[in-house]
Amino acid sequence: MSHEAAQSTMGTRPRILLAYDNPVMREHLWRILRDQYDVITAEDGQAALEEATRVRPDLVLSDVRMPRLDGFELLRALRADPHMRNIPFITLSERAGEAARSEGMEAGADDYLIKPFSARELLTRVRAHLKLAKTRQEANERERVAQNEAEALNEVSRLIGSELDLQKLVQTVTDIATRLTGAKFGAFFYNVLNEEGESYLLYTLSGASREDFEKFGMMPRNTPIFHTTFSGFGPRRSDDIRKDSDYGKMAPHFGMPKGHLPVCSYLAVPVKSRSGEVLGGLFFGHPEPAIFTAKSERLAIGIASHAAIAIDNARLYQKAEQQARASMLLAAIVDSSDDAIISKDLNGVITSWNNSAARLFGYTAHDAIGKTVAELLIPADRQDEEPQILARLRSGERVDHFETVRRHKDGTLLDISLVISPVRDSQGVIIGASKIARDIRDRKRTEKAIQSLNAKLQHDLVAMTRLQQLSTRLIETQDVTTLLHEIISVGVEITGADKGNIQLLQDGDLKIVAQQGFDPSFLDIFNKVRSGHAACGAALEKGERIVIDNVMESDIYDEVARKAMLDARAFAVQSTPLVTRSGEVLGMFSTHYNRSGSIPERDLRWIDLLARQAADLIERRRAERAVQASEERLRIAQSAAKIGVFDVEIASGTNTWSEELEELYGLRRGSFPGTQAAWENLVHPEDRDFAVNKVEEAFHTGAPVEAEWRVVWPDGSVHWLAGRFQVYRDAHGTPARISGVNFEITERKRIENELKRANQDLEQFAYSASHDLQEPLRSVKIFSELLAGRCGNSLDCESQEFLDNVREGARRMEMLVRDLLTYTQVATLDEDPGYVDANLVMEAALANLAGAITEAGAKVHFDSLPSVRIHSTQLQQLFQNLIGNAIKYHRPDVAPVVHAKSRRENGKWIFSVRDNGIGIEAEFKERIFGLFKRLHTGDEYSGTGIGLALCQRIVERHHGRIWVESEPGEGSTFYFTLAV
Ligand code: ADP
Repeated sequence: MSHEAAQSTMGTRPRILLAYDNPVMREHLWRILRDQYDVITAEDGQAALEEATRVRPDLVLSDVRMPRLDGFELLRALRADPHMRNIPFITLSERAGEAARSEGMEAGADDYLIKPFSARELLTRVRAHLKLAKTRQEANERERVAQNEAEALNEVSRLIGSELDLQKLVQTVTDIATRLTGAKFGAFFYNVLNEEGESYLLYTLSGASREDFEKFGMMPRNTPIFHTTFSGFGPRRSDDIRKDSDYGKMAPHFGMPKGHLPVCSYLAVPVKSRSGEVLGGLFFGHPEPAIFTAKSERLAIGIASHAAIAIDNARLYQKAEQQARASMLLAAIVDSSDDAIISKDLNGVITSWNNSAARLFGYTAHDAIGKTVAELLIPADRQDEEPQILARLRSGERVDHFETVRRHKDGTLLDISLVISPVRDSQGVIIGASKIARDIRDRKRTEKAIQSLNAKLQHDLVAMTRLQQLSTRLIETQDVTTLLHEIISVGVEITGADKGNIQLLQDGDLKIVAQQGFDPSFLDIFNKVRSGHAACGAALEKGERIVIDNVMESDIYDEVARKAMLDARAFAVQSTPLVTRSGEVLGMFSTHYNRSGSIPERDLRWIDLLARQAADLIERRRAERAVQASEERLRIAQSAAKIGVFDVEIASGTNTWSEELEELYGLRRGSFPGTQAAWENLVHPEDRDFAVNKVEEAFHTGAPVEAEWRVVWPDGSVHWLAGRFQVYRDAHGTPARISGVNFEITERKRIENELKRANQDLEQFAYSASHDLQEPLRSVKIFSELLAGRCGNSLDCESQEFLDNVREGARRMEMLVRDLLTYTQVATLDEDPGYVDANLVMEAALANLAGAITEAGAKVHFDSLPSVRIHSTQLQQLFQNLIGNAIKYHRPDVAPVVHAKSRRENGKWIFSVRDNGIGIEAEFKERIFGLFKRLHTGDEYSGTGIGLALCQRIVERHHGRIWVESEPGEGSTFYFTLAV
């Protein structure tokens, strides 16, 4: 046999290790064995041990005596190795006899051959030991397998015995079974059928993912193959299921669907409970054929029976747990319920009692259980309810929302609502009742509150409707008495009074002006009530409402009044003053009641409202009457004075005119069109701009504006009107209206014009007279001087006196004419003079008066004076005349002291010139300012009586005023004003 052939049979033929130090012998033996065995040779024990460790021979043949390691030492080394201890060992010994045998056997050899031995003998022994070893090995293997199975099942029962979670348990079973059967994947399917008799897709998988199966959706479970398992018909095993005659018979897939994990080897065992119920099945698959052995099947069956027990247990446990949980939940619900939950038997004896029952009825569970509902809870007058309830329960009826009254432990009665249901045992026999009692006191109270609130609202609504109607009537109806009657009638109606009256204050007494429900005898007695008498008088005195709950007992009445009240069946009364918004008491509103007792607060509030309305009504009527009267008066005054009134509403431009105003513009009544333009048209064209400007001025200044203008009547006649008007603004300051009056001043203007003309004529005359008089006066003066010069000495005394008189007359006439001329010329200075420094003017005046000052020994002072708007000559005339007079009219022997000054007051300068002269009697204070008015003769004090008249004329021309204040004998102070 070639070396290659020997190599190719390696592994299938038993392998023999041959240890022999003699090469010849080794060769010889090798040749004997090599045809049947693979022979590995070693030249000594040491080399043999190394080879054995390397190749694991099936048998060792060894010489005893060898260098390095002898045959016994090799044997001991092999026996010491657990992997090699079972290798048959045959010693080849040269020594015959017992000693050599026992030596080999002691060392643990399986056999020995004594040399010389035949080839046959060697081969027989080798074969026998190889066989023996194989048998022994197989027995060992079987034992190991059996032990493994036992251990596996033990493991299964240990694992599943301790697992009560059904899902986990089934998973564990599936995992173990898959592992032990050698399946590629395994599954547990529950045998739960739906309505079509199909198993639900409930399973546990091992060795495959759920997706691998779920992607096919519901797989039919009653196929010929699956069916045997689910029906509990023992195991089903196939080396190639696809070749099974039952395979592929069922729609929709007819075998495994496309994409299914490949299954060739198939094993399925039912899982049956002790009661015979098929709980499900364990299914195993493998893509290769003939994987599952009888042993796999045995294991699967073993596991299935363990699993069935465990599933049964887990199910029981689960059920027990669910029940325990359910009853715990129920107990928790019952205990936490707000409702009292009680159970009783059919005799009405209480068997359970929750916390709320204890709270509601006041008895603890300990107190209540064992007692009957009737004795514990039902009030005496409702005892018949319980037998009726029990009778209904016995007949299986339920009592729904039965509202009744039950008794608390402390005796108080409770409004409750009951729901009572019969309780049946497992056979359906009624054994008692559960009762839910709900406290409905709050609900009852709320119901009552809502009812009474509703009634109140209803009443308020009626009352408000009546008040509303009354308010409308108050506006519509004119007759106050009718309205007061209505107020009483509404008051009586909405406050539940029986009678009422309204009294008004007349001359300090209350007089009934409207009433309802009283007869004449009562009205006679109460017709006039003084302050402080009876309820109404007392209310009047105090100024606030008086309520008398019981007329019979009240000490507010005298006997007569009380009798009248009681006769009128007024046993209670209230009197509320009618007070205006400004606080004035107008009268009294009283309501009377046929029964004594307090009047509800709400009714008093209604009365307040009505009293308010009555007071407003009366006040309004009074105001209306007052307005009517004043309007009437105004109208009379306007028409008598011919005053026209207008009122322009600025926003709309509407211009409303009174009849008088239309008359003033020469229009027929009601014919003024009512616009601003229409008015402007009526104004004289020459005055139109002026008048319109005045209106604008009123807008700018906001102050009253006065003006005079002419109007042209439709008949062409021209009339003078004076107007006074003002712009009125609203709350935001925007002009809202302009209104005012016009009146006719044509006559006044006519007289004024005449006067002016007369004055002008007079001035003209005075001017020309004084002017023309100067000529003849000069002649008189010249000729009297010539006469005096020529024949002064020749004249007799009397003639001399005549001549002096002429000369004096002429001199005075000259003064008069000069002063008069000055006076008349004041009027002619019309142009604006500009401002002048009064100090300079004063100095000029004093320079002119220097002679008089020196002559009289006068002292004249003046304080710093302002600049004023006046022609300097006219101011000088003023100063000169006033200071001149102050020096001239001094007291005899008292040197004149004069002081001039000025002060600013109310937008004007007030100048004053004070002297210490003779003073002026009060009665002459006005007169001295008249032309030619003098208080003294020329003998006493020279003068023309024109000076002060001139001063007045100048001052008045400048819109100022001049006056004097004086104490006769003490001095005078002259004042005049000039504009700033
Ligand atoms: P007359 O030329 O008389 O002074 P006036 O018009 O100046 O004329 O004065 C009128 C009269 O007023 C005077 O005649 C005098 O009686 C009186 N009167 C004027 N000034 C004074 C004064 N300072 N003190 C007293 N009386 C005065």
